[in-house]
Amino acid sequence: MKIIDKIYVNGQFTAPHGTETQDLYNPATGEKIGIVHLGDQIDTDQAIESAKTAFLTFSKSTLKERGEILQRLHDAILANEEALNNAAVEEYGSPISATKGRTRYAAQIFLDTKAAMEGFEFEKQLEYATIVNEPLGVIAAITPWNADYTHICGKLAPAIAAGCTIVIKPSELSAIQTQILTECFDQAGVPNGVINIVNGTGPVVGAVMTAHPDIAAVTFTGSTQIGRLIGSKAAETMKRVTLELGGKSPNIILEDADLQKAIPLALAIGFSNSGQACHAGTRIIVPESKLEEIKKLIVENMKNIKIGDLWSAESYIGPMVSQKQYDTVQRYIQSGWDQGAEILVGGLGHPEGLGGFYAKPTVFVNVESNMIIAKEEIFGPVLCVITYKTEEEAINIANDTIYGLSAYISSGNAEKAKQIARQIISGRVLINTAVNRESKAPFGGFKQSGIGRTSWAYGIEEYVEPKVIAL
Ligand code: NAD
Repeated sequence: MKIIDKIYVNGQFTAPHGTETQDLYNPATGEKIGIVHLGDQIDTDQAIESAKTAFLTFSKSTLKERGEILQRLHDAILANEEALNNAAVEEYGSPISATKGRTRYAAQIFLDTKAAMEGFEFEKQLEYATIVNEPLGVIAAITPWNADYTHICGKLAPAIAAGCTIVIKPSELSAIQTQILTECFDQAGVPNGVINIVNGTGPVVGAVMTAHPDIAAVTFTGSTQIGRLIGSKAAETMKRVTLELGGKSPNIILEDADLQKAIPLALAIGFSNSGQACHAGTRIIVPESKLEEIKKLIVENMKNIKIGDLWSAESYIGPMVSQKQYDTVQRYIQSGWDQGAEILVGGLGHPEGLGGFYAKPTVFVNVESNMIIAKEEIFGPVLCVITYKTEEEAINIANDTIYGLSAYISSGNAEKAKQIARQIISGRVLINTAVNRESKAPFGGFKQSGIGRTSWAYGIEEYVEPKVIAL
């Protein structure tokens, strides 16, 4: 049983003033594996005060000093890689192969950000004025449970690069991983008060951070519903916000796509992170003329997608993170059925031989764009196949959503796919691939998928304020 009974304020692990606790579970079994002690308003205020004091010095640090810190943070994560991997498998239910990649990525963020910082224009001399990009102040970071530590690192690295200090509220469901991550930060020798971490609930710790006058910006990753709340609350004190929110990503399979490649790719994209991914391609938009062939290929390829043993390198799908998330997925599957969609694979309940919070990977066909399963983010392993007759219709279906985070196209003609990509309203469009290999690319959403961008110099820009000095 893991007891997480410390928060991290001003470079010290201290017991929180708050007295509430929350149980932690292993999603693969449903077993209780720990308890986290939650911070309260006093803890949050103290963390913000510590970050505010540290900002006075850290905002004047040199690029060399910040670069060394980013390097040490990278090294500390790699030194604790195994512990982080194990915690993510146990607490989050992420299969080991996905977990390993994610931990490496979390470490790499610090090196990429260091490189971006070294090329960043912190000062620009114009004809009559100097433009200085000054660090913004104390940043509040609020993160979700899915891939929590990559989100924490993605928010922390640009804050350090910009010369800002930070108060982080991780998800209540990620306390064990965050504890190990915090130890990494502590080992990296970051000046006291630059990084502060307060475990707690959204409505308590998150809400205090969002309203606090000493917070200059809130960077949030989570649901669109909570993103709206945070955006409106932050506006009261004119905080800058970066919101990375939900998605309902389309995946258009064009007539000329090689279906032997496109269908396994579509399943990998849709079931990415067991469907608990903001970028998961959950709406597979297919030519009506090829529906029967595609259905067959989906059924065949589902046999190759391994669900179960999280420690096996072959497992691709794990459980839902919590009982609540499992119940949500069940409700959506029921709603798809009730609205007349047809279950091609999967359905209600647990997969055979598995308990805990495992849900059946499910693919619906005969789906209409206005059905709930096609409109709302399910955040589970539930995919919709929607048919189109013309490419124009495919693009309209792809854009028929409040979201605009990610989109995918499979095609045998890259030039044509690129033209279609320009017509899709989305922060990114990936063609014939599940991953964007370009580390210098921004990440973020159009429409209700968010505001602002992270990654590379785009992330640093969110944390600086231009000042004009003119003679
Ligand atoms: P969530 O919105 O429920 O919670 C996210 C965080 O917000 C948690 O730390 C939570 O405690 C906090 N929170 C809750 N209420 C709050 C309040 N009133 N004030 C301040 N903070 C509050 O999201 P989740 O269930 O943890 O994560 C899943 C969601 O995150 C999905 O919608 C997914 O699409 C989204 N997500 C988006 C991205 C992206 O980059 N766009 C990446 C990962 C996840």
